[in-house]
Amino acid sequence: MPICPKCRQTNRQIKDGRTPAGSQRYRCKLCACRYTPQPKDHGYDQDIRLHALHLHLEGVSLRGISRILAVNHQTAANWINGYTNYLPADLPDSILDLARLDGLIK
Ligand SMILES: [Zn+2]
Repeated sequence: MPICPKCRQTNRQIKDGRTPAGSQRYRCKLCACRYTPQPKDHGYDQDIRLHALHLHLEGVSLRGISRILAVNHQTAANWINGYTNYLPADLPDSILDLARLDGLIK
């Protein structure tokens, strides 16, 4: 569960819609504070991030990726930079193979 940034409680934190970028927002029912934990990365699951990386490795531009996946292009850039900076070993083989072909990893 998220932690309220004001009163530091973890109980009675309820979902409260999303930011324009798609991040999950929360509201604390104890102090009524509204907040977005880790606004850059949350709100999207692993699948869509992998999809973004896959498109990138296929040569699709960031703008193209943002259009295809309906995400902000800066969001897509953050995901791709995150992955290409340190491609995790637990990526699916299909993605790792592409990354190798692309010279991102050895
Ligand atoms: Zn609170």
